[in-house]
Amino acid sequence: MVKIGVMGTGYVGLVHGAVLAGHGFPVTCMDVDAGKIGRLSRGQSPIYEPGLDELLAAGLRAGTLSFTASAKDVIRGSDVLFIAVGTPAKEDGSANLDHVQDVVQAIGRYANGPKTVVCKSTMPVGTARSIARYLDGALKARNAPYRIDVASNPEFLRQGKAVSDSLAPSRVVVGTESEDAKRMLQTVYAAHLRQEVPFLFTNWETAEMVKYASNSFLAVKISFVNELALLAEKVGANIGDIAAGMGLDERISPHFLQAGPGYGGSCFPKDTQALLDVGRRNGEELFVVSAAAAANEKQKRRMADKIAEALAFGGSLKGKTVAVLGLSFKPETDDIRYAPSYDIINGLLSRGAAVKAYCPQGMKQAKRQWTEWDGIVAYCESEAECAQHADALVLMTEWPQFRDLGWDRIARSMRGGHFFDLRNQFADDPRIRRLFRYYPVGSNEPA
Ligand code: NAD
Repeated sequence: MVKIGVMGTGYVGLVHGAVLAGHGFPVTCMDVDAGKIGRLSRGQSPIYEPGLDELLAAGLRAGTLSFTASAKDVIRGSDVLFIAVGTPAKEDGSANLDHVQDVVQAIGRYANGPKTVVCKSTMPVGTARSIARYLDGALKARNAPYRIDVASNPEFLRQGKAVSDSLAPSRVVVGTESEDAKRMLQTVYAAHLRQEVPFLFTNWETAEMVKYASNSFLAVKISFVNELALLAEKVGANIGDIAAGMGLDERISPHFLQAGPGYGGSCFPKDTQALLDVGRRNGEELFVVSAAAAANEKQKRRMADKIAEALAFGGSLKGKTVAVLGLSFKPETDDIRYAPSYDIINGLLSRGAAVKAYCPQGMKQAKRQWTEWDGIVAYCESEAECAQHADALVLMTEWPQFRDLGWDRIARSMRGGHFFDLRNQFADDPRIRRLFRYYPVGSNEPA
């Protein structure tokens, strides 16, 4: 049985490792965060992802899944090494490859036989080729009589659906120049081959670009519909119907055409910036991606403007209390990285509003990372506590439990009756319009 090592146990590495262990492979997941490794070894997931706890428990019980903080151990003990460490954005938008570099240097140092190194992290074009060159040099310097193959195998899972996406991905993209690496990944992904998941074999650079191109295209789609939503509000059109009308054309498709507060998360903002950076370095300015990123910043600003306009004719929000439901960048995740909630709440705070917030899973991270809000933003225990005595309610993230909150009671407990539905969850619900002054995104309601 092929022995698998996964380096980095975040949203991607942990889910990937647990899913492969579920397929019966012996999998060792490694992380530099020893605290995380300790908790994982006891079956405690450091992240919230539906289905992950069960998968973790099953892998530990079956003995197929183990954890270590030792790079040396995981490298020596594995045939295939997946790199799943973070590649966050630097100040200038380029990808920070420090963690990737640490892992690759460790592989060069500790590899004790032939290995396949698989780049699962999102890495700029040219990274896999330079990893291959580096490892080649490192082995030659040690006179090692074996080879390390390198493949780029970008990850497309969606947070909140990471387990189901990993079990049944939309596609598997493998960029490599080695037939052995190709065969190895066909063995590792045998379950996907049996499911007839589409496989695309390419060179390194193409695989790396498929990932950035996919995320950038989705960002463009969101920004496109968000720009139209702002215009629709001005001209008396309805963005939900516009998107429905557009989506009926199969060349456009109805997916990813929902207007909202702007995109966030750990991928779209950083991957669009990283692609723009690669464009700049290669003398090609990517106007469309650049516009999508700018439109996204505008969208978040406009959401705060719109709330201030409704509550105080665009003036100061001093004396007003705004209740925010949802902090995570999307439902079913605890991840708050680059969440639009951050910029929109800052916009409200800067206008003098008092902000209360509730999120089913995002508050722990928010308290840890958004420390400048200490004592300024009041975190609540429930949706009802959040709404109580507020002048306005802002539905920031469409968690399923927000669908039915006992709206009569919530409306009665508030001081004002403004409801900003930044996800258009209640656009077709007359009940909410009866109880609140309802503001969706992308139509001129309330007229
Ligand atoms: P994450 O921040 O959740 O996890 C990264 C992990 O790597 C952390 O646990 C960190 O401690 C660990 N790490 C850092 N340096 C290390 C080292 N030298 N050795 C071992 N572990 C180390 O990141 P993530 O969200 O899982 O993303 C990982 C990569 O996958 C990124 O490149 C990201 O762009 C890409 N990706 C993410 C998603 C997503 O939805 N989160 C989807 C597709 C692709």
